[in-house]
Amino acid sequence: MGQTARTTKLLLDLSTRDQGGTNPGKRSHLTETVIILNAARRFYLDFLLAHPDKLMERVEVISKKTGEVREGVISADNLLTWAEFQTVETPDHPTPLPDWNFSREFPGLPNRYRRSVIKDVIGKARGYLTSVTKWHASGKKKGKPGIPTASNHPTLYAGTFSLELDELDLRKSFIRLKVFAGAGWVWVHYPTCYNRYFDRRRAEPGWETESPKLILSKQSAAIHFLQTKTITAKKIVESKRDPDLVTVAVDLNVKQLAVITVRQHGTITETRFVSDHGLDHHRFQHLKRVAKKQWQAGKAVQGEHSNQQLWAHVRRQNGDCAHKTARAIVEVCEKYPGGVLVFERLRKIKPSGGSKSRRLNRKQANQLNGKINQLAKEKAYAIGVVSVEVNPHGTSQYCSRCGCKGVRFTYQAGQRITGKGGKLFSCPACHYECHADFNASVNVHHSFFREFHWQPRELKSG
Ligand SMILES: [Zn+2]
Repeated sequence: MGQTARTTKLLLDLSTRDQGGTNPGKRSHLTETVIILNAARRFYLDFLLAHPDKLMERVEVISKKTGEVREGVISADNLLTWAEFQTVETPDHPTPLPDWNFSREFPGLPNRYRRSVIKDVIGKARGYLTSVTKWHASGKKKGKPGIPTASNHPTLYAGTFSLELDELDLRKSFIRLKVFAGAGWVWVHYPTCYNRYFDRRRAEPGWETESPKLILSKQSAAIHFLQTKTITAKKIVESKRDPDLVTVAVDLNVKQLAVITVRQHGTITETRFVSDHGLDHHRFQHLKRVAKKQWQAGKAVQGEHSNQQLWAHVRRQNGDCAHKTARAIVEVCEKYPGGVLVFERLRKIKPSGGSKSRRLNRKQANQLNGKINQLAKEKAYAIGVVSVEVNPHGTSQYCSRCGCKGVRFTYQAGQRITGKGGKLFSCPACHYECHADFNASVNVHHSFFREFHWQPRELKSG
């Protein structure tokens, strides 16, 4: 049993009004709201840190599962009630602590927002206190934990937002938000960039939606819906005993980004090559430019970024490509429920040698592989497929059919050229020849089952 989470985003339409977007005033309401909520968070953070004893109070807790009574830290809900009692004026309790009168400092702030802010800082304050205690105990002079920042994205509890998705005309969907508009708190309609994809993700069975967050950035505003799902998947050790187990192995490379092979009962039943569609070369061209500019500009100034747009472009392309490749891997996994996804532990292609642009490109390629690995694992887990990492030792050097050491070669103008960079693999013992990355991918299965002598006897599950 485990948990997985994902975020579904709904963009607010902040384009100009004649294009169906919102007006600039509404946009500034959002900014104001975020500023006020940050201030409120600061207030409660200071308040809680001024009362560390209460924050870490040990109380008797009754376990929900077993009914046992034991000692534990006061629950966040109880702490919230206590904090509100101390700081908020109510008809029943008109005198909060004089130095900590929240109602005076933030008149009219909606209760829901207040609660979300308190809940948010409880975790922050506790984390800070724990790390400070640890730091004191360690006796070190350096590395004193800093006081946590109060700014965060506002969490929208029920009562501070409502979605109005018009079924008939999808272009006219709005989200209603409670925002601070100069004089007070009001409800405001914001048009959204609604799409069917969003609705499908929200309605997907098995996923539970938690309180959304308002994410405000320089150019855009969005509501992020966090969704969680409980996963039931077998442990790797259990799966391994299953004679009908299907293993999906992935070999990550540079130009053939991923070679996916599926194996059951000892035979490869499916193969899929995911090419980078020239991304590596394309990126190389950009990085040549970066390298040239860096050379022309001389030593970089510390803390100053250069070639920002170019880097952003490279990053975006890498990210997009990683998502697509991970998707392709998971599409294969989807066909075999209960299977196991096998990766090699990432080996780093050392970015040494060659020109500067080449080294930069290698680094990016490594990063891309890491990203694909991580995303594929997450996406696979969400559909109940567990992944495992095996030792990468020898997968690309040995023959996947007989286990002997082989050579790489390539054909150039009909001539067979043996060499390290060859795309093809050849085995001198059994004369098996195939694509080198395919050979490596099949070897990943062997590594998982530890079938050959050259495979080390260790397995790390991830
Ligand atoms: Zn062989």
